[in-house]
Amino acid sequence: MLRIDKVTKEFPQSSGGRKRVLEDISLKIEDNEFVCILGKSGCGKSTLLNLLAGYTVPDYGALYLDRNMIHGPSADRGIVFQEYALYPWYTVLQNVAFGPSVRKDPNAEEIAMKYIKMIGLEKYKDYYPDSLSGGMRQRAMIAIALACKPEILIADEPTTALDVTIQAQILDLMNQLKKETGTSILFITHDLGVVAEVCDDVAVMYCGRVVERGDVKTIFANPSHPYTKGLLGSIPRLGDAGKELKSIPGNVPNPKYMPKGCKFEPRCPYASEKCREEEPGFFQIEEGHISRCWLCESGQLKTDHVEKAGD
Ligand code: SF4
Repeated sequence: MLRIDKVTKEFPQSSGGRKRVLEDISLKIEDNEFVCILGKSGCGKSTLLNLLAGYTVPDYGALYLDRNMIHGPSADRGIVFQEYALYPWYTVLQNVAFGPSVRKDPNAEEIAMKYIKMIGLEKYKDYYPDSLSGGMRQRAMIAIALACKPEILIADEPTTALDVTIQAQILDLMNQLKKETGTSILFITHDLGVVAEVCDDVAVMYCGRVVERGDVKTIFANPSHPYTKGLLGSIPRLGDAGKELKSIPGNVPNPKYMPKGCKFEPRCPYASEKCREEEPGFFQIEEGHISRCWLCESGQLKTDHVEKAGD
């Protein structure tokens, strides 16, 4: 369905030179699949979203939807942004019907009502956005994206600004929509709880690269990349009261001074000379589970490392 094929993106710098924000990203999303891209600020998630939306083009590689190359925005990709983008002078119904009516669909209101019902806002269809709660507005955004009947729904941190109860409702809604409409969903987030809650597969990003990919149960039960292990290890657990919270030491490197080899090397407790000199490619850990780490080259990570770091 959606294929990201060896995509690299750079931006020119005011000081001269170019900053590489995405490096060799490859990812596939199948029909009716719910995939999360997990990464912290600065990992390249937003640039990837802009490429998927067609707002910008890659310098190398290409993106395909149903074998057609993506170039430019199109209704075949429904995007739900973190910030609400509702017309304040339109009601919920008018906002949701806007997309189909621009496409000159004679049944625009009927289509809009179908999705408004699906998201549970039929009682509020004549309300203006400023009369709705944050969760309702975000649900309206999902209906807007779906009303154009996209082949894939791309959601960029749509629950970040919401409280946990509303967040859970939105996640349930997205899962329900996936079942009812068969739409594939690509969910971009920094929130491990969200990933565990909803997705089938997860791609972990660091410094503009996918560093680990696998199904969500495998990634949570058997993470292989030291960065993924660090992220999972930093989740506070019940019973940890009074204990020091775990964190990944150091910071994301400045793009101007990117390490030559593995980009996680300055923060990695397992770094070796080889890691400093050469950037690893992907190694397969098991069917559908890949990791960009030299320790996986000989299966070392799966045995020694996991036991060592599995405290
Ligand atoms: Fe750590 Fe080396 Fe693996 Fe990079 S390649 S994550 S530095 S062990």
